[in-house]
Amino acid sequence: MCDRRSIFTARTGPGHSIRNVLRCRRCHASARNRHVALLARRHLGIRALRDLRDSPGPPHILNASATSPLAAALGEAAYNTEFWSDVTPGASRDGIRCEDLTTLSFADASLDLVISEDVLEHVPDVDRALEETRRVLRPGGAHILTVPYFPNDPTVELFDVVDGEFVLREPIRVHRDQAGNAIPTYHRFGGDFMRRIEAAGFSVEAVTSTDDDSRAHGIRDCVSFLAVAPG
Ligand SMILES: [Zn+2]
Repeated sequence: MCDRRSIFTARTGPGHSIRNVLRCRRCHASARNRHVALLARRHLGIRALRDLRDSPGPPHILNASATSPLAAALGEAAYNTEFWSDVTPGASRDGIRCEDLTTLSFADASLDLVISEDVLEHVPDVDRALEETRRVLRPGGAHILTVPYFPNDPTVELFDVVDGEFVLREPIRVHRDQAGNAIPTYHRFGGDFMRRIEAAGFSVEAVTSTDDDSRAHGIRDCVSFLAVAPG
């Protein structure tokens, strides 16, 4: 991610996966961060993310995180956003733009790339979110995304819909964000996840990290989804 020669180290423990803990000693990017960045560079046809900073005009990239190493690497070349339920999409809090993946404030066909790393499992109406990211992408644009993915199992929904509301089932599963806040998880995605991405109008490929990715970039045990809007 930082495009410098580096050492990758992992602190492993129960429940840790290599994709999340194999970090660059220089920029702290995880293997997952680097795999998403690799797919983004390939999709955009650029050598390094920092090359984007030279392009004039407003960004054409939405990154659904303002705190990730990818957000730091993209800088002003992307809308690096967070979601707060009490902020209007498109408005800002503490200088960070709020976006709700299910009601984006962007115009139709206005972006080249959407990135969401381990976000969709926390979005109750994930099908609507995928339709929304497809709406804002130009023909040929891509949503590059990761989720905790269990390809040998069917998807398990962790909520009930009660009077039109998404109500989490007990015991509620949470992930911790970078600030340590508990974020509830609504889906455990299985092998049928690809079909849900397709149902939103994308053509989709599950890209598994290769031995070359491991040798060249310290990327191991990663599956990222490349969802392309019809061109
Ligand atoms: Zn690095």
